[in-house]
Amino acid sequence: MRDLARIVGTEHVLEGEQLEDASASRGISGRARALVRPASAEQVAAVFAWCYAHDVPLIARGGATGFSGGAVPRSGDEVVLELGRLDRVLAFDPGLWRMHVQAGLSTRHVARIARESGLFYPPDPGAAEQSQIGGNIATNAGGPHTFKYGSTGAWVTGLEACLAPGELVRIGGPQRKDAAGYDLRGLLVGSEGTLGIVTAAWLRLIPAPLQRQVACACYPDARTGCAGVRAVLEAGVQASALEYLDAGALAAAPRDGLAGEFAVIAEADAAGVLPELLEALAPGAISLVEADPAEIWRWRDGVSIAVTARRGGKLSEDICVPLDRLEAAIEGTVAIGVRHGLEACSWGHAGDGNLHSTFLLGPGESADDAAQELFELAAALGGTVSGEHGMGQVKRPLHLDSAARAANAAIKRALDPKGLLNPGKKVFDL
Ligand SMILES: Cc1cc2nc3c(=O)[nH]c(=O)nc-3n(C[C@H](O)[C@H](O)[C@H](O)COP(=O)(O)OP(=O)(O)OC[C@H]3O[C@@H](n4cnc5c(N)ncnc54)[C@H](O)[C@@H]3O)c2cc1C
Repeated sequence: MRDLARIVGTEHVLEGEQLEDASASRGISGRARALVRPASAEQVAAVFAWCYAHDVPLIARGGATGFSGGAVPRSGDEVVLELGRLDRVLAFDPGLWRMHVQAGLSTRHVARIARESGLFYPPDPGAAEQSQIGGNIATNAGGPHTFKYGSTGAWVTGLEACLAPGELVRIGGPQRKDAAGYDLRGLLVGSEGTLGIVTAAWLRLIPAPLQRQVACACYPDARTGCAGVRAVLEAGVQASALEYLDAGALAAAPRDGLAGEFAVIAEADAAGVLPELLEALAPGAISLVEADPAEIWRWRDGVSIAVTARRGGKLSEDICVPLDRLEAAIEGTVAIGVRHGLEACSWGHAGDGNLHSTFLLGPGESADDAAQELFELAAALGGTVSGEHGMGQVKRPLHLDSAARAANAAIKRALDPKGLLNPGKKVFDL
């Protein structure tokens, strides 16, 4: 504690803090040996070097909105580096469509600065007010607009990060392309604090779309609705978001004008796209209307809360399957619920094949076995156990074959030879 206090100041080291993240509803909580709040990348590096020299495990913690317990200690021996004080905009060049920010800046702040200059930072994960750019990079966070614009990693051209045994490195930068060396930027994106700690990022921006229009289609069942989703792709028209809700999600979050067992929401943000979306979605639809985008997204943001309210609790996962298996994953989610005596539903990013498969829970109920079966379903359908929330301490990469596991383990050993970075997370049992 004395050594750490010398680096960051006594008031920025707390002993024995009990910590949680958005996985707290699964009962995940852990005590940090020390919670440290650095004010600069140099202080991050000094704490990192001290931990590496003394064989002390180390966890990066952003806004603590993660759903997988990634920022929560497991053993009680860990030093947790909370990055919220690294919240400066280091450079903003609107004329060059780019921003250089520290890792602790909130997602909303980045989006707002861009918007005020007529620019657009497309990644739109749901907890933008609290989540940090560093946490978004570490989980490769996505959202509804990932379908057109890609996840967070697609907008990162460079990183400053602290790597073992405690050195700051610059990877990429403000340049928009980089074909030199291995893609270390890509390795750190989605690495959940297990390979290094991100201290700053160069972000790419684009001009803000001039318009947004939304089509809402309702269908009698998942089969017809999924055909509607595929019809949008087959029409060769680029929706900026392509979302769905199944019958259970619609029952939990009813909305005027959405009748039927399955809804598809398709957003257009370029001229001429909406009529093509309406035409593609029409076959088999019970209703098809244009909706107010601000209003529909506000309602969509509340779906998760409405589903929780139905029975008081829920376990929600984020499996992702090839688009031609979307219907099987949606129906499979409900069938798993039935087998485990749990009400189940799903909604999510239809265009990406990314489902928020959810089991509703009353007091004392658990869905751990149902979730395990869900992960097996994702693997069997040729998909992944996580499309956007990461693995943390709640998921295992059972969809990876042995060669892919060995490659993951080799990367972990190469970048974290002492195994001190966020132990027990992501790839620990490969
Ligand atoms: C209401 C709600 C809605 C959400 N919606 C979405 C959504 O639409 N899409 C989505 O993808 N996620 C969503 N999430 C999950 C969560 O917001 C994202 O995973 C987010 O990217 C986590 O960022 P954070 O700053 O809170 O990170 P934390 O939760 O603090 O940490 C997450 C992981 O990243 C690591 N980490 C954090 N900062 C750094 C860093 N600087 N360097 C290295 N590693 C680091 C941690 O060690 C941990 O493993 C949602 C969560 C909530 C509560």
